Amino acid sequence: MIDNIDPAGHFCLIRSLLRPKSFNKETLKKTMQSLWRGKYGLRIREVGNNMFLFMFNNNEDRMKVLKLGPWHFNKHILLLEKMEKETNLSQIELYKPSFWFGDFGVPYLFLLDRVGRIIGEAIGDLEEVEFVKGKKGSNQFIKLWIGIDVRSPLRRGMKFLIGSSKKTWLTFQYEKLPNFFYHCGRIGHTLRECEHLKEKDGWDKNADTQYGSWMTAESF
Ligand SMILES: [Zn+2]
Repeated sequence: MIDNIDPAGHFCLIRSLLRPKSFNKETLKKTMQSLWRGKYGLRIREVGNNMFLFMFNNNEDRMKVLKLGPWHFNKHILLLEKMEKETNLSQIELYKPSFWFGDFGVPYLFLLDRVGRIIGEAIGDLEEVEFVKGKKGSNQFIKLWIGIDVRSPLRRGMKFLIGSSKKTWLTFQYEKLPNFFYHCGRIGHTLRECEHLKEKDGWDKNADTQYGSWMTAESF
C-alpha cells in the first residue's frame, strides 16, 4: 500500500528492465524529471526495488507521456503502467509497455477502423487506432498503439486476409524499439543473459537471424 499520496495526483508505476545494481536510481529520477517536469509537473517517489511512482498533476499529462513512449534510459526500456489510487502494487504486472505500430502496407480501401482493430488485437492489448496522412500527402496509413508482452519474442508480422481470398504478409515495425537480442527476439538482454538459446556454447553469432534492426521505426 502507498499512503500519503497526493489526492489530486494521477499516477504511473515505472520499472526499469535494467537490473537494479546496474543503474543509478538518482540519475534515473533526475533524467526523467528533467525530461518531463517542466511540461508535466512530474514528481517521483521510489516505492520498491527498481520501482518508482511517477505522479502527474492531471490525466492529460500522464497520457501525453505514455503516448510518447516507450521511454528509454541508458538504452533500456522503462516499463510504465497507469495506476489509479485504488490499485494495489501487487495487481500491476509491468511487462506490457505500449508501442506505436504503423504502416502495415494495408491497401487504401481497407484502411478501416475495423481492420486496425483486427490487426491490433492480434498483436497484443490494443489501446488505440489512428489514421495518419503519409508524408507524401495522400498515402494514408493505420497507426496502432498496442501493449505487448516483453517476455515473449517480438512478432515480425502476420498473415492477413485481404478481400475474399488473398492472404498478405503484414510486416510489423515498432516505434522507439530499444536494442534487443536478434537471436531470440526479446527485449532486455544480450547473449550473456539470454536463457532462450539452446546451444549457447557452439552458438554462431554470425548466423542468420529472423530479427533485426529493420523492425525499428524512428517515428510514424
Ligand atoms: Zn533471449
